[in-house]
Amino acid sequence: MHLNDISDEDLEDRLMDERNLNLICESWRQAHRRLLHPDVIVPVEELPDRVGLKAVLGEVKEKVDSFLGVSEIKPPCVYYSGILDFICENLISICNDLKWKSADEIPSHYSPFGIGISKKEACINLPGTIAHEYAHHVQSTSGVGLVRGTACTEGHAYGVGMYISDYYSISDKSIWFSFHRIHGLLKQHKKANNPGDCHCMGAAAFYIEEMEQGRQIYRQLLDGTFEFKVLK
Ligand SMILES: [Zn+2]
Repeated sequence: MHLNDISDEDLEDRLMDERNLNLICESWRQAHRRLLHPDVIVPVEELPDRVGLKAVLGEVKEKVDSFLGVSEIKPPCVYYSGILDFICENLISICNDLKWKSADEIPSHYSPFGIGISKKEACINLPGTIAHEYAHHVQSTSGVGLVRGTACTEGHAYGVGMYISDYYSISDKSIWFSFHRIHGLLKQHKKANNPGDCHCMGAAAFYIEEMEQGRQIYRQLLDGTFEFKVLK
């Protein structure tokens, strides 16, 4: 299976089955046990400048390329989110009937302009944030195209982000939070009902598969050799 072959509905059906409640609880505990490192918040004035940001991307790119088994990928532009992102994100919010976002609510993202990094997220985990967005760049240059936030593309990017966070010994709470959300939905018999749920489903589903199969699943999702072994 390739990332493109798994629809949001398919992934949701595999994950949000009440028979998976114990599995979700156990994976949630495991994800919590992986939060080994103390939170270190970098003051905003100590964040790297544009040149420094490019250097961090270069370092992360090298590790992610070898992790995903890809080569000859042109590095995207990387910049701190600015006014253009503010306008784009709000146009998208309006089109999707979502609420208007304030400037510091604009999350890091990948677009044809490159990787826009939110300073708020950079202060918490810059390498992991860059790795997540760079994974979207790899997806778009290796066949997935610029799809905005399907559960699979997001789950894949969270897995890559987690790998890099572990490399830099930064505790990444995103997977733990995803299980928290999924568990809540399952307990209340609720279907996914906001765009963030799709991120959580992808992150949780691939974490469960990663625990069983190992981290090569992220490479396999790109070359089409991935198979579900737990969420069959
Ligand atoms: Zn993403």
